[in-house]
Amino acid sequence: MTITTRFAPSPTGALHLGHAFSAIQSHDRARDAGGRFLLRIEDIDGTRSRPEHVQGIVDDLRWLGLAWHGDPLFQSTRLDAYQAALDSLQGQGLLYRCFCTRAEIAQSLSAPHGAAPVYPGTCRRLNLGERDGTPFAWRIDMAKAVALVGPLGWQDEIAGPQRADPSRHGDVVLARKDAPASYHLAVVVDDAFQQVSHVVRGADLSEATHVHVLLQRLLGLPTPVYRHHALLTDADGTRLAKRNGAPTLGSLRDRGMDGKMLADDLRAGRLPIGFALPNA
Ligand code: GLU
Repeated sequence: MTITTRFAPSPTGALHLGHAFSAIQSHDRARDAGGRFLLRIEDIDGTRSRPEHVQGIVDDLRWLGLAWHGDPLFQSTRLDAYQAALDSLQGQGLLYRCFCTRAEIAQSLSAPHGAAPVYPGTCRRLNLGERDGTPFAWRIDMAKAVALVGPLGWQDEIAGPQRADPSRHGDVVLARKDAPASYHLAVVVDDAFQQVSHVVRGADLSEATHVHVLLQRLLGLPTPVYRHHALLTDADGTRLAKRNGAPTLGSLRDRGMDGKMLADDLRAGRLPIGFALPNA
């Protein structure tokens, strides 16, 4: 089997060192196995995606010395495929329309007796049809879906065999009011389309995998092997994020840093001063 991995950034901001680390892990997993490394631009969030960030991602990866196979896949070109997946789930009677606003959901979550931080299922119980033009999201009836497929799991190259528990996410959104597909749906459809055999991504996304393996089963798609790697942090153990002031790769490049040397340092676990890799 040809090992295929991918790096799938959302062009909603500039990449930082944590992204570089993740892209290198994914790239090297394929390279070391003589496989293929793909680039996918997750740009279905029309309100937050920016073309300048797409260019930045391409420039940053090249600077790090990472080459990908073929052209990048843009999720914005894949809307028909997401619709087909939604149609399939709808045909299985697993979706319902949700008209709730964020504020309404937030209010119901702060209700006494601490409801779990999942959607409380208000619109599932109402089972509403279309309401003249009012925007709605499609949610999955999680209990019904889980009952349909039975026990699920996945193989994680780092954490070992995992049992999936998608129920803890509740009735997740699969198509948003403002976007034709949610992250969960688009990722699952595209990993299969691109024949990704090994999903290499940060441990922060392992929670999402519980939902992804369920969707794969419902849509008749293969479940890849997963490799959820440790996250790079700053010296205090805080996860790198733009909001925490993590330096962007563009700023390191502008300071004259050599990207290929940086990539080799990250590979060797030599982190720039002020960064850490806990539990690696
Ligand atoms: N687009 C997602 C992000 O930038 C990552 C998707 C994935 O690796 O599954 O966080």
